[in-house]
Amino acid sequence: MSEPSSNTGGCVCGAVRFTAWGQPYRTGLCHCFDCRKKHGAPFGSFAIFPADRVTFSGEEPGVYARSAAGRHYFCRNCGSPVFGRDEGSDEVELFTGAFDEVDRFAPTYELWICRREGWLPEIPSVVRRYERDRAGPQRTEP
Ligand SMILES: [Zn+2]
Ligand SMILES: [Zn+2]
Repeated sequence: MSEPSSNTGGCVCGAVRFTAWGQPYRTGLCHCFDCRKKHGAPFGSFAIFPADRVTFSGEEPGVYARSAAGRHYFCRNCGSPVFGRDEGSDEVELFTGAFDEVDRFAPTYELWICRREGWLPEIPSVVRRYERDRAGPQRTEP
């Protein structure tokens, strides 16, 4: 894909909307309890974009401070988790289930595989697996 492209998404009721431009730095899955619980799902699925490549519209989302820097944003009307962004970070974590179309971003890495559900099959697009968090400061994954 050499053309600039955009992908839209938002919460289930449509009050919180976003547009992400271009390609994410990386797309992954996380099996940690934070991701599981904030989505109410067996794992979290996200695409990490440069913050200046994402625009928001509609209602102001609610914010939950998970940790000193960790922020989790959700729709105050329908409760859907929509994105995460650490305080001061130049990256935004868009939850891939919030995009309007399927098959936009396939995960290439998995985090916290020590918490991975035993019934989950291997995911063919994944090429790197971390026992817990990612190691190192690199922005991209293969
Ligand atoms: Zn909503
Ligand atoms: Zn996680």
